[in-house]
Amino acid sequence: MKKNVSILGSTGSIGLSSLTIFKKKNKLFKINILAANKNFKLICKQINEFKPEVFIINDLKVLAKVKRKFKNKKIRIIKDIDVKKDYFKKSDITIAAIPGIAGLKPTVELTKLSKKILIANKESVICGWNLLKKTASKYNTKIIPVDSEHFSIMQLLKNQKISDIKKIYLTASGGPFLNFNISKLKYVEPREAIKHPKWKMGKKISIDSATLMNKILEVIEAHKLFEIDINKFEVVIHPESLIHAVIEFKNGLYKFIYHETSMLVPLANAIFDNKLDIDDFLKPKSNFKKSIFFQSLNFLKVDKKRFPIINLKSRLNEHYSSPIIINAVNEILVDQYILKKIHFTSFYKYILKVLNDRNYKKYAIKEPKSISQILQVDQWSRRVIYKKILTKKNA
Ligand code: NDP
Repeated sequence: MKKNVSILGSTGSIGLSSLTIFKKKNKLFKINILAANKNFKLICKQINEFKPEVFIINDLKVLAKVKRKFKNKKIRIIKDIDVKKDYFKKSDITIAAIPGIAGLKPTVELTKLSKKILIANKESVICGWNLLKKTASKYNTKIIPVDSEHFSIMQLLKNQKISDIKKIYLTASGGPFLNFNISKLKYVEPREAIKHPKWKMGKKISIDSATLMNKILEVIEAHKLFEIDINKFEVVIHPESLIHAVIEFKNGLYKFIYHETSMLVPLANAIFDNKLDIDDFLKPKSNFKKSIFFQSLNFLKVDKKRFPIINLKSRLNEHYSSPIIINAVNEILVDQYILKKIHFTSFYKYILKVLNDRNYKKYAIKEPKSISQILQVDQWSRRVIYKKILTKKNA
């Protein structure tokens, strides 16, 4: 029997990579639920091509347009997930790839309805891990992180004890500005920041990679997922993006995962429980020169002048909800940067302003028990950063 598949964020970079895999093995999978926001053309194309039973569309205008277009077809086109409805069938595999806090509720909801959930949406782990973990345990759902660093750590920790770990190195490519003239960084344009040298990804994560915020988010994601002391994590620049995480064990052995710079590798491994031939999904490298294994590898310390955001690592564990606040402020800053309302070098300064706000502690010490409580902290952070951008002092 075919396995049922759901994809949250089906029109995005992770969603499309996942669909490539399911398409190549279409005898094994049935696409059941898809979700997206506002890409009308692609949503229509996916309805025609994959014939899902349900399409969840967030943007109201696009929702109405798609509903009109498919009014005579046997598909449910809806705004919100309601897992109690009988047309929400159990999925064997769900891919959670809606960026930002917007991904949290759909991810928690589909965790209730999936045998296995592959989480790309790091923001939902950062803001709602306890809730996700509790839901997964209640509904007997397996969680697999597919961020390449976290997928690697999960592989490396098989048959290992957390207490045997000395250090975990998370690698960062350094993004498009690794060697850019620092004095000109302030004026780099969003279109330049989005051009990642190694990975092809959505806008938000590409900008997070350019500022290195992506690594800050990944440190907290890994700390939550694997329950490892945050001080054991170190970020290193590895421009080739071939090694994704390195674990140094107390016995002096280092282990790492090395794979091609493509999300197809962690996604396909997570989908097929590591039992696959990657040549089914990636073009095989034909000769010595092209083989990734024989490339030289470089590792550099993070330059704090170029990437001041790395200093936030020491603030991540300050209070229970500090990560929720940092994440929310960063989401607004990314949007504002794309709208050209702030400079590229303003991210860190603005985040510090919120962390120094007189009400910061009041919200940061909260321990949210529900999505609405998480959203209260998130909303406070958004309001404060908006105000600070509007008054625009020192940034
Ligand atoms: P993209 O921006 O490429 O895609 C986002 C997807 O989510 C689109 O399908 C978009 O729909 C949909 N979407 C956005 N907002 C909503 C919403 N409110 N409700 C429903 N659907 C929505 O993002 P990526 O695929 O790059 O990233 C997805 C997540 O995976 C992020 O959290 C990112 O950090 C993480 N990740 C991504 C990696 C990558 O290589 N891309 C690597 C590791 C992690 P529409 O197109 O219609 O607007």
